[in-house]
Amino acid sequence: MKIVEEFVIPKCTGKAFRLDRGRVLRVIEPEGGQVAGLMFFNAHNYKEQFMAEFSGSLSRFTGLGTRYAMGKLFSKVPFENLMLTVTDDKVGKHFAGPHCTTRMMALLKAPGHRSCTDNFTDALREFGLELQDVYSPSVFNAFMNAHIDPEREGTITYGPPTGKKGDYIEFRAEMDVLVAVSACPDDVSEVNGHVCKEILIQVLA
Ligand SMILES: [Zn+2]
Repeated sequence: MKIVEEFVIPKCTGKAFRLDRGRVLRVIEPEGGQVAGLMFFNAHNYKEQFMAEFSGSLSRFTGLGTRYAMGKLFSKVPFENLMLTVTDDKVGKHFAGPHCTTRMMALLKAPGHRSCTDNFTDALREFGLELQDVYSPSVFNAFMNAHIDPEREGTITYGPPTGKKGDYIEFRAEMDVLVAVSACPDDVSEVNGHVCKEILIQVLA
């Protein structure tokens, strides 16, 4: 396959774009240690949306499927269609769960701080979508080092990122999808190592 599109998502911003069926999306952390929040929609029906935890549960029937990594990404009920397949993954530790939000930033004692909510809002506007049209704030948080602690009743803790310079994850589109990416602007918690960085996107055909 060859790279047919390549662009940078500047730090602390979001962008949405279309990915045709059969093409491969490569999400790269050029400097390492940066979370990329990913939302996916059926490009022909925005009501059909990727559902994060649900995809982890369904994926385990066909191989790798946890909240930290999954082989297949499915759309929410009642659709339950295969949207994307993970074809390569250099990190292997992600988190199917919530993106950072306005309230989360306030609770982290940074009221008014930019969050993935702002990035997704900006990104989706171009396609006529608002966050209130999105079924769930749970996304595929690529490269996020989160941990569900069974010793503490399933408490979720976040550690510093483990991805290194140039690491990436790749997805093959199994339908035409609208992709929204947030270069997570959280420099308050540990998720981006307290330094926000850009994300590089490549599309291969
Ligand atoms: Zn975020």
